[in-house]
Amino acid sequence: MSRTGPAWFSHELCFWHDPGAGSGYVPVGPGVEPLRQHAVDPDLRRAEGLVRLSGVLEHFVRRTPTPATDEDLLLVHTPAHVDRVEAASALGAGDAGVYAQVNHHSALAARLAVGACVQAVDDVLDGRHPRAYCLVRPPGHHAEPDRAMALCLYNNLAVAARSAQRRGVGRVLVLDWDVHHGNGLQDVFWSDPDVLYVSIHQEGLFPPGAGLVTETGGGAGAGRTLNVPLPAGSGHGAYLAAIEQVVAPAARAFGPDLVLVAAGVDAGGHDPMGRMMATSRTFHAMTTALCELADELAGGRIVLAHEGGYSAWYQPTLVLATACAVAGLPAPPDPFLHSLEHLPGQQIRPHQTRVLQFLRDHHPLLSTEGAALR
Ligand SMILES: [Zn+2]
Repeated sequence: MSRTGPAWFSHELCFWHDPGAGSGYVPVGPGVEPLRQHAVDPDLRRAEGLVRLSGVLEHFVRRTPTPATDEDLLLVHTPAHVDRVEAASALGAGDAGVYAQVNHHSALAARLAVGACVQAVDDVLDGRHPRAYCLVRPPGHHAEPDRAMALCLYNNLAVAARSAQRRGVGRVLVLDWDVHHGNGLQDVFWSDPDVLYVSIHQEGLFPPGAGLVTETGGGAGAGRTLNVPLPAGSGHGAYLAAIEQVVAPAARAFGPDLVLVAAGVDAGGHDPMGRMMATSRTFHAMTTALCELADELAGGRIVLAHEGGYSAWYQPTLVLATACAVAGLPAPPDPFLHSLEHLPGQQIRPHQTRVLQFLRDHHPLLSTEGAALR
């Protein structure tokens, strides 16, 4: 790693984005008493606080993003979509799409989240930093070109990948290990032969019916989408096997020049939105594996961006574990690990193995009969 160390992108205003009163992901309405909605981001500030308190932030170079421009956003989104986000935010409350509530700060926070990802990609492409991590909100991977969705306003990493292509980067691997399927990312790159979108998510969780093993890209992008829908209850062993047996060989077959990771932590075992059992050790190991893959295949160029993560108490530890791996440090102490690591099912189980085996046998990037598509 170079002397400058990896970059850490965050902005106070991203912590001011707030979907408003509700419960979970549902705004106040019939039967819904005001509590708080997910992705209210004092939690994210707490995550950054833990990374700072632990001393790990000192291994990074702090970078403050500037807001994405219209030109950046329009690489992926329609003008009407940008107008809807701006208008809803200007009103101070309301839904900019489908379950994408905003407050007064949301439009600028969303531009800063995109800006962080775009500028992080610029930094690694220019060699200013070997790697970068973006602690941003609102998240991005559900946002479609013309629709905000499920807490996501703009598709942060989709814009970053398009921005990299604008600069002449050839092939981009986008790995998404958020527990939900990144329908927006899949949509944007469905027919793009130069972007491999890989999603490891909980089978059938959200969006309903999205992210099947049989969705493998279309047109010129045939074979450039790879979905790993792990059954609910998957733990450390299943996630690492997915990386080793599916993601790594697919990445080697594809040959990326840049690696982007939608690094949500809602596959964590205490997350209220998912039914998975990943631990801090899982996120540390996956991040380390991806940094090593980037070293092997893409000159070390890797940018990770936060996505989902809704456990108020566990998210900070999972962000810290991710940060430690980006900085090349060992996995951090985890005061909650004892509650997860002993659970039956942390080792990979046969019904989880079958998903990986199916992909090895049938996905165009992995199977012998798909060699012509590589
Ligand atoms: Zn998620």
